[in-house]
Amino acid sequence: MHTPVTDFLEQVRLSCADSDEGELAHYIPQLAEADPAPFGAALCMLDGTVYGVGDAEHRFTIQSISKPFVYALALADRGLDEVLEHVGVEPSGDAFSEISLEPNGRPRNPMINIGAITTHALAGARDAGGDESTARVIEGLSAFAGRALEVDEVVYESERSTADRNMALAYLVRAQGKLQDEPRLAVDGYSRQCSVLVDVRDLAVMAMTLAAGGRNPLTGERVVPRWVCRQVLSVMATCGMYDAAGDWMSTVGIPAKSGVSGGIIGALPGQVGIGTFSPRLDRSGNSVRGVRMCEQLSAEMGLHLMETPEVASHVVHGVIQPEAGHGSHEVQLQGVMHFAAAEAALRALARLPDDGAPVVLELSRVPSANDIGRRMLREGMRRMGADGRAVSVVDPDGVLEG
Ligand code: GLU
Repeated sequence: MHTPVTDFLEQVRLSCADSDEGELAHYIPQLAEADPAPFGAALCMLDGTVYGVGDAEHRFTIQSISKPFVYALALADRGLDEVLEHVGVEPSGDAFSEISLEPNGRPRNPMINIGAITTHALAGARDAGGDESTARVIEGLSAFAGRALEVDEVVYESERSTADRNMALAYLVRAQGKLQDEPRLAVDGYSRQCSVLVDVRDLAVMAMTLAAGGRNPLTGERVVPRWVCRQVLSVMATCGMYDAAGDWMSTVGIPAKSGVSGGIIGALPGQVGIGTFSPRLDRSGNSVRGVRMCEQLSAEMGLHLMETPEVASHVVHGVIQPEAGHGSHEVQLQGVMHFAAAEAALRALARLPDDGAPVVLELSRVPSANDIGRRMLREGMRRMGADGRAVSVVDPDGVLEG
């Protein structure tokens, strides 16, 4: 059997291909000359499977999609406190190239240019700067993609030579004491970061690395720690789609980032990484076809983050009672044990009749538990033991040991 996922993805792509709306970005000369025709999309799954359709191998410069990944590198290299001293996490409500500073001089968030230039200078060791930060950034972006990425030198020159506005932003943050590098070096490095060449497959893998908690699904490399991904995905959810972030979150509901060359990434925690590319942009600066595709994928594949999951009602698979005073109460649980699931499981244990019969907790249908789920189940068992009941557990996958 051929999995229908590729066909489904292609169907969605084709249904969005009829639109020629939107404009190319004009303020970077090289981007204004781009071919508007290529249109590709890719999905990457947790095990590294990548589905690509359309112009999935067409390369383009990553632009602002680099911002969340470089934010992740800065967090991993410097820690949350140091990064928060320099860049905030509030949506700016301004255009991406605005002077968006908080009263204390911090750029409002790392997804707008003023914050991204500041973040670039935070990647790498504390005494790094200039070329060293940039080398760290290119090597880090490559680790997210699972292959060595290259810089498009022509686009880089084009950006660097027209970077007056970004230079002004960099000088401003420097004057506020928040930029750790010389403005010229930071902007050169940031322009290089934006000129890294990727295709939609790379984007999908990069997005999935964030969605998978920092481990690259292709190479298995741990690129950044898990807590970093939570921070980055949160900021993507609130600030990732230029001025349309609120609209995007309510309609598509996937943490995302777009860039002026026409790419979009979506990272749905634990499920899927999405990459799309089509260069024509809407008034907010997001790819017209890319937005439509993500809207459809989210609606048809049920990917909205805020979609209420049905969990707690199906936690107890069954309860076997002891027969005529013999045997034990066997409480069979199912599904992943997180807080809400473990709460339902504990309630089932608390409801058992107080007949002194032993209790067996049967976990063969529980694939995994998070920390809190594990702690809650263990505590339930401990309390039943303290009440004088014999408690045992059937845990063939060692879920409670993890
Ligand atoms: N290199 C571009 C700039 O700084 C990136 C902008 C974007 O993709 O939003 O203007």
